[in-house]
This record gives sequence, C-alpha cells and structure tokens, in this order.
Amino acid sequence: MKAFNYHSASSVKEATKLASSNSAYLSGGMTMIPSMKMRLANYKDVIDVKKIKDLHGIKVTSKSVVIGAATKHADVANSKEVQKAIPSLSSLASRIGDAQVRNRGTLGGSIANNDPTACYPSACLALNAIIHTSDRKIEAEKFFKGMFETALKKGELITAVEFQIPEKSHYFKFPNPASRYAMVGVYVAKHKSGVHVAITGAQSVVYREKNMEKALNDNFSASALNGISIDTSELNSDIHASAEYRASLILSSAKKAVEHCK
Ligand SMILES: Cc1cc2nc3c(=O)[nH]c(=O)nc-3n(C[C@H](O)[C@H](O)[C@H](O)COP(=O)(O)OP(=O)(O)OC[C@H]3O[C@@H](n4cnc5c(N)ncnc54)[C@H](O)[C@@H]3O)c2cc1C
Repeated sequence: MKAFNYHSASSVKEATKLASSNSAYLSGGMTMIPSMKMRLANYKDVIDVKKIKDLHGIKVTSKSVVIGAATKHADVANSKEVQKAIPSLSSLASRIGDAQVRNRGTLGGSIANNDPTACYPSACLALNAIIHTSDRKIEAEKFFKGMFETALKKGELITAVEFQIPEKSHYFKFPNPASRYAMVGVYVAKHKSGVHVAITGAQSVVYREKNMEKALNDNFSASALNGISIDTSELNSDIHASAEYRASLILSSAKKAVEHCK
C-alpha cells in the first residue's frame, strides 16, 4: 500500500471540503482497503466518513425507507422497521457476503462501488430509489452508469438512499459459493404504478428486464414468465457461468422471486 493522508470527517461539509481530484471517501473499507493494498488504487487523501452522524440511521415513513449511507449491512438486516416495511430489503442485506463483511460494509460504499455482481444496486432499481448526495438527489435509473461507474461527480458524497415501499417484493440470489456475490440476482417489486424486475450479476451493470415487467404487469404470476426468451448477447460469460447458463438462471430466479413475493 502506498502512503496516504488519513482524515476522519465529522460532518458532510468537512468531508466534501477535504475532497480533491486525488482523494477518496472511506466507508466500510471492504473494497477500498484491499484495492489499495494490491495497488489497484491509490489516493493522496483518504477521507473516512464513518463518524459522520448524518450518514447513519434508518427512517421509515408510510411511503419510503430512508437509510443513511454509512449504515452497515448488518444494521439493515437486523432492523425491525425495515423487516416490516420492505422484508425483501432486510433479507437482501442479511445475505451479503459473510458476517464480517456485513458488520463493516455499508450501503453507500456498495452503491458507490457499483460492482456488477453486488446486491444493493438491484434493490435501488426495483424499489425506485432516490440517491441523496451532498449536492443533489439522483434517481436510481440515472445513477448506475456502467461497470464500477456511477453518476457521482468527483468529491460528491452519498448521504442516504430512499427506497419506495412496494406492495410486495422479493430478491432471489443465486450466490457464488465462495464470495456470496450474485452470479445472478433478481429483485422483483410490485408497485401500484407497475412491476419492476432488476437483474444483477448477469451483465456489466445492473439493469431492468422490460419483457418480464410487461408480462408481470399483465399477469403477476410465475407462469406469466414461461416462454420469455433472454437475449444472451450482453450477458457475462466467465469461469463461473456461461452466458447461456446465466440466461437460464435469470428465468428460474425471476420465477422464484415472483413466487416468494410478500
Ligand atoms: C468477501 C466479500 C464478499 C462480499 N459479498 C457481497 C455480496 O454478496 N453482495 C454484495 O452486494 N456485496 C458484497 N460485498 C461487497 C461489500 O458488501 C461492500 O458493500 C462493498 O465492499 C463496499 O462497501 P464499503 O462500505 O466497504 O465501501 P468502501 O470499501 O469503503 O468504499 C468502496 C467505494 O465507495 C466509495 N464510497 C464509500 N462510501 C461513499 C459515500 N458515502 N459516497 C461516495 N462514495 C463512497 C469509496 O471511495 C470507494 O470508491 C462483498 C465484499 C467482500 C470483501
């Protein structure tokens, strides 16, 4: 690891003031520290945001669940309020990585990193999330741009994520047996305004499967997905799964997600 200046910010204002063209925010450190250790990334200034009080906590209203960016996965998993309002979201958090990762990793770090196999990005798309930052509010649809790429500008800090409470929902993940990341994960959410089907792990970035949404809007049942063909041309093919296998996982996982929706 190369030498860097460590700063611990106590407010959003202080953190953004410390930011420069060669700095990065540190949250759970689950991705950033190994990347720096392996010299895949290096920064002059590392700004720790974990002690910023405004980035912590969970607020539930009749319409939404707002979660602070530095809230750990374990806190989302164990929150009785989230379990009641959006059970699929607490369940997703409870299955991220292992206990160590869940007790360090954070929501803000996860979506800022935008790993193509991460779980939370699919929750953001399925649950019509609004990403609150130090500068603005960004719709999830416009946030996830490409592999490890988001709409965040240099020095922009995620402060919270606002998830819309659906009528019912479920996240079905087919995990990599070693890392627990999604080889394919399908998040189905039925809102008054329509059904969202968000897929992670299958392409270079999370996306919505519009053909499935159309079928489920007409008939919200697993059988409505029979015969839907998945275009394999954009699907990942690697040592873990071929594009064809991933296509099959998308279909079977989507059916299971619909069956388990509550
Ligand atoms: C072994 C292992 C297994 C895992 N399994 C899963 C899994 O099954 N599913 C899953 O979804 N994830 C998984 N993860 C990812 C993990 O859950 C973390 O969410 C992820 O590593 C990043 O979160 P973090 O809080 O550690 O962020 P950090 O490592 O601290 O930061 C990651 C990136 O986000 C930036 N950042 C952090 N906070 C903010 C902020 N508030 N605003 C703007 N930028 C910010 C940092 O500058 C950095 O670029 C796994 C990780 C490991 C190591």
